[in-house]
Amino acid sequence: MSKLVSKWNYPTTVRFGAGRISELPDALAATGIKRPLFVTDPGLAKLPVVASTLKILDDAKVPYGVFSDVKPNPVESNLTAGIAAFRQGKHDGVIAFGGGSALDLGKLIAFQAGQTRPVWDFEDVGDWWTRANSDAIAPIIAVPTTAGTGSEVGRAGVVTNEETHTKKVIFHPKLLPAIVIADPELSVGMPQFITAGTGMDAFAHCLEAYCAPGYHPMADGIAVEGIRLVFENLPRAYANGKDLTARAHMMSAAAMGAAAFQKGLGAIHSLSHPIGALYDTHHGMTNAVFMPYVLAFNRDAIEERIARLAAYCRIRGGFDGFARAVIKLRKELNVPHALPGLIKGLDMDKKRKGLIADMAVVDPTAGGNPVKLTKKAALGLLENSIAGT
Ligand code: NAD
Repeated sequence: MSKLVSKWNYPTTVRFGAGRISELPDALAATGIKRPLFVTDPGLAKLPVVASTLKILDDAKVPYGVFSDVKPNPVESNLTAGIAAFRQGKHDGVIAFGGGSALDLGKLIAFQAGQTRPVWDFEDVGDWWTRANSDAIAPIIAVPTTAGTGSEVGRAGVVTNEETHTKKVIFHPKLLPAIVIADPELSVGMPQFITAGTGMDAFAHCLEAYCAPGYHPMADGIAVEGIRLVFENLPRAYANGKDLTARAHMMSAAAMGAAAFQKGLGAIHSLSHPIGALYDTHHGMTNAVFMPYVLAFNRDAIEERIARLAAYCRIRGGFDGFARAVIKLRKELNVPHALPGLIKGLDMDKKRKGLIADMAVVDPTAGGNPVKLTKKAALGLLENSIAGT
């Protein structure tokens, strides 16, 4: 009997293109949302990109509320406050507007406002999502302003549990936004650090999905083209934030990464999650730091696959050529080569390293790594990424 057994999920309606944010009132009508809660983060809330979007709602006479108490790497207290705002304003849907942090929190507010169980009961474990009251989930419109997480086309939201200092992935099929407006003009104001970090997040999603074991040729195909788009456009978007073509391709690559990672992720993410939860580092930038060390660790299992990918991206030299291209890309984007470049004053003792390795091996992404991530291996990867070797 054939072993080619798999399950494929594909994204939602995406209205893609510069200027399409003007269609927000139409998207609200299409999803039946009459009183949206507009969820964004405090940094974005001060920028013209939010003011001009709210003006579109004002001009269309949409009664909306704004909630912007969202930390980068959002925490449970942000969610609690967002749910209170949703209920108090008698909202019937969410416009999640921003990077992964605001998108995730907006999605989770729409999800959790109608639930009676704690959010942790819906962690992405087995079929825990079936515990939710599906009918009580409010519709979501997602509007990304970064190009990295792909949360706009995903069925998950990430939130940090402040008690345990762990990042938890909450999953439900209805966390998938009903409509996405992917307008690259909204991303032109991203500063260089965020452009690089989010772009490398998209890259990490595509790369880890492509290397994850399992039968998913559609995810593989999407991941391969996503990686090509990042190689060709991220340095352009980084060098000139106003390059709308590069911004558009990066916005596509981000959505492609998230579509691809339904196949699985791997040790880059398994290590990045505890580091993000304990040191509050930028998620994509943390992924970028770990990338070459994890590539080298996985070499034996992925050499041939990576050689095929390299050929598609017109990179010479098979696996080694690809690994060099990753290092070159990171340099162009000023990604720190080692963890101390990302976390100032980093001084990790043995106990802390052990804790991070313990957290990495139980992270839900660890199972997707093509080579088993043991505690010893996680410790080794951590040491390498601290030493830069
Ligand atoms: P972010 O949302 O935390 O935003 C980072 C910073 O960029 C913020 O200060 C924000 O104000 C600013 N910013 C965003 N858009 C801007 C713009 N257009 N112009 C100027 N500034 C802008 O960063 P992110 O990398 O997009 O998201 C990271 C979060 O997403 C993490 O919590 C991570 O765990 C989560 N994540 C979720 C998924 C998922 O599948 N749901 C996947 C990967 C990561």
